[in-house]
Amino acid sequence: MQVGHSHGVKYYLFPRLAALPGVRHAVFTRQGGVSRGAFASLNISFGVGDDPGAVRENRRRLAAALGLTTLRSARQVHGLGAAVIEGPLPAGQPPETADILLTTRPGLGLLIAGADCQAVMLYDPGRQVAANVHCGWRGQVQDVLGRAVRLLKVEFGCRPEDLHAAIGPGLGPCCAEFVNYRREFPRELWDYQVRPGYFDLWRLSTDQLAAAGVPPGRIECARLCTRCLPEDFYSYRRERTTGRHGAVIALSGAPRP
Ligand SMILES: [Zn+2]
Repeated sequence: MQVGHSHGVKYYLFPRLAALPGVRHAVFTRQGGVSRGAFASLNISFGVGDDPGAVRENRRRLAAALGLTTLRSARQVHGLGAAVIEGPLPAGQPPETADILLTTRPGLGLLIAGADCQAVMLYDPGRQVAANVHCGWRGQVQDVLGRAVRLLKVEFGCRPEDLHAAIGPGLGPCCAEFVNYRREFPRELWDYQVRPGYFDLWRLSTDQLAAAGVPPGRIECARLCTRCLPEDFYSYRRERTTGRHGAVIALSGAPRP
């Protein structure tokens, strides 16, 4: 991963996604914001008990770092719901409930919040469609990534073989322990254990994207463990009461390749 900075905000970039025209993205860390205490400092979630004014300022910094005027997020519920987002949230309207966000509108950033769950970005350079997916283990059990690829196909005519995918930071095989995995994971996923009870959720996302038709050569994985990197990332497993870091993808509206 490449590292970038903007006015004290630290973020990571996927090298191959960053090299593509027509799209911009950033995996933000927790550094460079104004939130305090357990939420220090770049928390982007209104739903964890942080000061809303601080969250608004943090989100403003994310948008500024990417040169975006609009940043949109949804209420994430570890489900298969999707929202096509093509403009700012109308005043007074609550955000959608969705774990899959899609857009064709240049300059509109799709924001996924995380604290151990992966944000998985998808991009079709030809059709100029971007998606950002909240992908925790509950989403993986439901194959939320396969669902996202199918939606891109059905709603926008994207061919899976044209997609680029980037798997964000999340619990690594070092820390993804599931004591109750026999109850929580279907048997076909038990092979993803690297030792008893510990799962390689990075490989699982890679395989689910490949099974949906994304070419393996177009799948990038951050391979950064949120629980092992307390300076960079919030981790629910590590801290329980904590903030959420943000991952953003946006179409830049550059000429098509
Ligand atoms: Zn770890």
